[in-house]
Amino acid sequence: MTETCPRCKGTKVIRGYACPGFRLVEMPCIDCGGTGEVDDVRRLWREHGATLKVFRTSRDMSLGEASRWIGVRPSEWSDAEHGRTDPGELLGRVQQKAIGDIRGKARL
Ligand SMILES: [Zn+2]
Repeated sequence: MTETCPRCKGTKVIRGYACPGFRLVEMPCIDCGGTGEVDDVRRLWREHGATLKVFRTSRDMSLGEASRWIGVRPSEWSDAEHGRTDPGELLGRVQQKAIGDIRGKARL
């Protein structure tokens, strides 16, 4: 099942200002790949990606801190958090790292 892309509202493009010259440009929407619609898989990625954001912000971690903590690039964390990529692997890493940290503290 598909639904209208929440980012581009079905227009298939994202508008923004770009350098040089601070001019208005249009780019294909990165959330829907320029189709104007998202499917169930993308919707699930967004929902699970939101979990990453809740985890990160509830611990007052910046994107850089969170990505360093589990050893990925900030862009990878950002893409997963926004549901642009499958957040499953990152969620697994976060879980493993958090459990490892808890176990480490328990031994102190
Ligand atoms: Zn879109």
